[in-house]
Amino acid sequence: MDRPAWAPEGVDMTRVSPARMYDALLGGSHNFEVDRSAAEAAKRLVPDLPRLALSNRAFLRRAVRYLAAAGIHQFLDVGSGVPTAGNVHEVAQSLDPRIRVLYVDIDPVAVTHSRTLLRDNDQADAIQADLRDPEELLARAGETGLIDPAQPVGLLLVAVLHLLQDEERPAEMVSALHEAVAVGSHVAISHLTSAQRPEDAAKLGRNSATVSRTGIRFRDRDAITAMFTGWELVEPGVVELPLWHPESERDLHEAPGRSLGLAGVGRKV
Ligand code: SAM
Repeated sequence: MDRPAWAPEGVDMTRVSPARMYDALLGGSHNFEVDRSAAEAAKRLVPDLPRLALSNRAFLRRAVRYLAAAGIHQFLDVGSGVPTAGNVHEVAQSLDPRIRVLYVDIDPVAVTHSRTLLRDNDQADAIQADLRDPEELLARAGETGLIDPAQPVGLLLVAVLHLLQDEERPAEMVSALHEAVAVGSHVAISHLTSAQRPEDAAKLGRNSATVSRTGIRFRDRDAITAMFTGWELVEPGVVELPLWHPESERDLHEAPGRSLGLAGVGRKV
């Protein structure tokens, strides 16, 4: 199997990565055969899965616009994934070109491709770091010069916390970030859930052992709400993806009552 030019050396092309599988679900081109097969297998279980991915991306864009309007000038996008249409820097910098964006991902393909794309953008960059070590992550983010720890930050934890197992204490990782960021910072979280479609969530959850070493955790509303402990939830609280500040019918992608994701935004006061 030839390694494509966009794939960094040493990448394992025989193992599925959540970043590349999600890219495949979104119709992107930075994925391998193994990722496309995993996406197809998941779609056979739940055929409207690509709608979930689109619905999640639409939430991300709305959250970035909301945070920019709230005065956020620097974004830390953790678990940012393979760049795709409507990236955070594109949305944010179209509103204010001075906004700084740092992408963080554990996946080398996501980071390498992000860096290539951002070559000419001195207000945005990408680093490889692990959400499970928030102190190290924040230290590395500070070293880039893009994130000023003394200023409010827009922390994006979009479709990443469900990739952490309970033993990896995802809520504690969010708390550690809350502790470290300046007052006025915001966090946007989206998370796969069993709340609306428990049977489909269970099917996808069982299947996810093939997708990531640790699987994907579809959590219930209480567990996802608990991730906002310490943050002041902005209206309308933790809701289905399409119901968080919907802007247009076209933007909904999933029917309310049928979303496989919950989302919310919190503010540090
Ligand atoms: N945030 C983007 C979005 O919502 O469109 C991409 C979400 S993608 C489903 C999840 C991303 O989280 C993947 O790119 C994966 O590599 C990354 N990820 C998984 N575990 C991580 C960790 N411990 N630290 C940082 N990133 C992680």
